[in-house]
Amino acid sequence: MSNDTNGQCGSCTHFGSDLPNETLVQVRVNLDASSDVVAGCGAPSNASVHLRVSALGSCDAYAPAA
Ligand code: SF4
Repeated sequence: MSNDTNGQCGSCTHFGSDLPNETLVQVRVNLDASSDVVAGCGAPSNASVHLRVSALGSCDAYAPAA
């Protein structure tokens, strides 16, 4: 399970390649205020189905952004 704050999509390296860079930075700086942000997930297991997720989502493929 990856349901703690550090495991949420907004702080995952696979999140948000389709977002403006400024928006992605804001999500990572203030994840708690980003509940309305939805973006693509680029994880190999999800990209083929063009999964879009909330910044507050999570899954087992979570990998922290650098
Ligand atoms: S769905 Fe999983 S892999 Fe995709 S951004 Fe969220 S935590 Fe990362």
